[in-house]
Amino acid sequence: MRKIIVMFGPPGIGKGTIGAILSKERKTPLISVGDLLRDGVKNQSDTGKKAENYMKKGELVPDSLVFELLTERISKDDTDNGFIIDGFPRNEQQAVMLENVFINEDTIFVLNLEGSDNVIIERLSNRRICEKCGAIYHLINIPPKKEGICDICGGNLIQRVDDTPQVIKKRLNVFKNDTKPVLDFYKKKGWLYSIFAEGKVPETLKQIYEIIY
Ligand code: AMP
Repeated sequence: MRKIIVMFGPPGIGKGTIGAILSKERKTPLISVGDLLRDGVKNQSDTGKKAENYMKKGELVPDSLVFELLTERISKDDTDNGFIIDGFPRNEQQAVMLENVFINEDTIFVLNLEGSDNVIIERLSNRRICEKCGAIYHLINIPPKKEGICDICGGNLIQRVDDTPQVIKKRLNVFKNDTKPVLDFYKKKGWLYSIFAEGKVPETLKQIYEIIY
């Protein structure tokens, strides 16, 4: 039986940070669609080239492109006992596409991390990521041991090109208009769990453990 966790919520609420911790603890892969796309942009793969402009502007990359990336990743053997998805689905069409990936025996948890716009903007502005391994830091809440350097791999910490005030605003709008309506879809299925995610990481994790274990 596969346990599948879908990290849901607005940009910057902590889906990647929490997803990475759960992934390590559960020995289950974290599949971040944003990371897969950023890798593609970095390597200038066909998909990366097609996605780059949408990402820079904070717009959604076309569904078929992201779904292809996601299914290719899920088809690897390490997902046999389950996986954690971060960043998918982001609209109703993608939620319908994801249904094709699930099988009857799967247990599915959609964890809806909730927080106000103020908290999200503060987190995104202070976010830094490792350009080499993608690890996520927050300058105040989760600072690296050495300024500008990743604790895990020694790579340089950078600000994402889409973590600028103008693009953040766009991404929040996309979340409200396209992504948030998906909640209803999962509520009807009985898979939806809401988590108050404005607190510190352990506080968010505590609520999640009560649901998934
Ligand atoms: P994220 O790292 O999840 O914040 O995603 C960064 C950017 O990648 C988004 O603003 C989109 O441009 C693109 N992206 C990530 N996931 C998806 C998705 N499921 N559908 C379409 N675009 C996506």
